[in-house]
Amino acid sequence: MVMKPLFALMLALGTPEHPRPVVKELVQYTLRVDSTDLSGWTIELRFQNKSGTFRLAMAAHPEYDDRYWRYVRDVAVEPSGTVTRLDSAVWQLSAPQGWVTVRYRVALPPPEPGLRASWRPFLTATGGLVGGPHAFMYLLGGEQMPVAVILELPRSWDVATGLRDAFRDTDQGRLQRANQRIWGYAAVDAASLMDSPILVGRLRQWRFVEAGVPHRVVYWPLPNAAPFDTTRFVSGIQAIVHQTLALFGTAPYRDYTFMFEDGAYGGGLEHRNSVTLGASSTDLARDPNSGVQEAAHEFFHTWNLLAIKPIEYRDIDYRTQPPVSSLWFSEGLTMYYADLLLRRAGIPLRDSTRTAHLERLIGSYLFNPAYARFSAESISQVAYNVQPGELGDYSGSTHLQGELIGTMLDFIIRNSTKGLRSMDDVMRLLFNQASPRSPSPEGRGGQGVRTNGRVIEQAVESVCGCDVTPFFDAHVRHAAAIDFDRYLGLMGMTTRVTWAPAAYNGETERDLRVWGFESERDSTLRLVINNPASAWGRAGLHSRDRLVGLNCAPVRTWAELRAKLQAFRLGDTVHVQVQRAARFEATVVVAGFERPTVRIERLPNATVAQRRLAEAAIF
Ligand SMILES: [Zn+2]
Repeated sequence: MVMKPLFALMLALGTPEHPRPVVKELVQYTLRVDSTDLSGWTIELRFQNKSGTFRLAMAAHPEYDDRYWRYVRDVAVEPSGTVTRLDSAVWQLSAPQGWVTVRYRVALPPPEPGLRASWRPFLTATGGLVGGPHAFMYLLGGEQMPVAVILELPRSWDVATGLRDAFRDTDQGRLQRANQRIWGYAAVDAASLMDSPILVGRLRQWRFVEAGVPHRVVYWPLPNAAPFDTTRFVSGIQAIVHQTLALFGTAPYRDYTFMFEDGAYGGGLEHRNSVTLGASSTDLARDPNSGVQEAAHEFFHTWNLLAIKPIEYRDIDYRTQPPVSSLWFSEGLTMYYADLLLRRAGIPLRDSTRTAHLERLIGSYLFNPAYARFSAESISQVAYNVQPGELGDYSGSTHLQGELIGTMLDFIIRNSTKGLRSMDDVMRLLFNQASPRSPSPEGRGGQGVRTNGRVIEQAVESVCGCDVTPFFDAHVRHAAAIDFDRYLGLMGMTTRVTWAPAAYNGETERDLRVWGFESERDSTLRLVINNPASAWGRAGLHSRDRLVGLNCAPVRTWAELRAKLQAFRLGDTVHVQVQRAARFEATVVVAGFERPTVRIERLPNATVAQRRLAEAAIF
């Protein structure tokens, strides 16, 4: 067995009785999963304690803070010392100076009803997801120290992670101890450790190389997984990698791992050189490309969000991420490219053409009054880490608003440069600013310019050679509704919008635009109104009203409310009892509502140059 030098170092550090000269300070973790107790895992953390007293914390993910500090049990330190919980996510420990070992257990919460989120940890007899901020505490003040990770796992399991190998590939899992196999990994710092979830278990794996960089596709199947066409599945992924690298020219990673999980819903979570994604084998059996659009979205975030990084993002923190004002770009342009790159790769999409896609997006935009009332920056700032109802009786999608802003900017750029440049050039420019070439082969990227609205605006202006400040003032910093015809007109196109009663499967759709959420703060069921012009908004109901009952019968959960709503018929009268400062009863008559349909058409006087621009933008 040949070890890489780092692992030799880890082993040297592993014998506190015989301390050896330390080349580099290191925090060493051991994560152990015992196949006879899959209720959680144990963590052992070792480092040289120089101050006697130190603090450990559980990091908060900037988007999905699952607050796994709630599930930490039995924190203990050796040689013996004291453990004090300072805050929900922070522990203070004291122990004699020198090598110290901290042990704790993460006891997994019971599974939620329905499908799992692909980024949440789980354990089953055939594998699970471990690691990241759900598992590892980090040393406050030691965030920059390199990290070594030992995994002790059931014998039949494999490992997929974006962490660097600390063993040679062929030696991973060869060491054995008490019916467990041992794997070794490393990370340059605590942030990289948190950013690298670890998929473990009986895995299927494929590899390919694009632009000289190795990529790995891993699938964790449920025991009863449906068979699917894995060649088409992997070639779909490779096609989007190919298109993304063709756009940017270089990758901000040394290697990349796609981690697909059966039994999780089709969302994903991006990381700097890996992604977790839900993809059920039944869906893949029906269509091997069923997960490729979500994969394209999360993969694109490697550039647009993680390398081209909003100014507000921290590397690692246990406190909740403060609001981020440029998510309209990080999410919206990622939506834009998830659609565009699949079309460039020739993979069929739900919207059969790019025109149909834009028609659907504009229809959704016109249907929702939030976009004419809240700026892109305001909607960005409430995209994560807030309770529903943060915008009162409105709610908008930063993804949708940002995708349309990006599309209009693309039209402006193409028009100003006579078709020579496009949004592609803006993305390349921002990536080059954000990730200047690093002199070190370990260059991590994302160390350059951070983005905000002004940085994005300047990048657009330097690509188009035009003034987009009025556009950014109107739609990014303020809340003017987008005049789509103005920008489509640059390409010789226009919209035709018709409003008609909403129908579903040939039947008039009922206005059931009221939702409920169960507030963790006070265990109440609260309403969400997303349009004050809905029947529920017009009846005087507001977001965050505490729901007491419907027609005088108590309603306690969102599932109960949904079931009752679904049972109403057109013309029914509903009495809604809510509690605010005072009790209030609204009377709602269930009615239909109107929805816009958008068609994009060519203007009769469109010039040849305009038609060429439109074709280049894939219309
Ligand atoms: Zn996203």
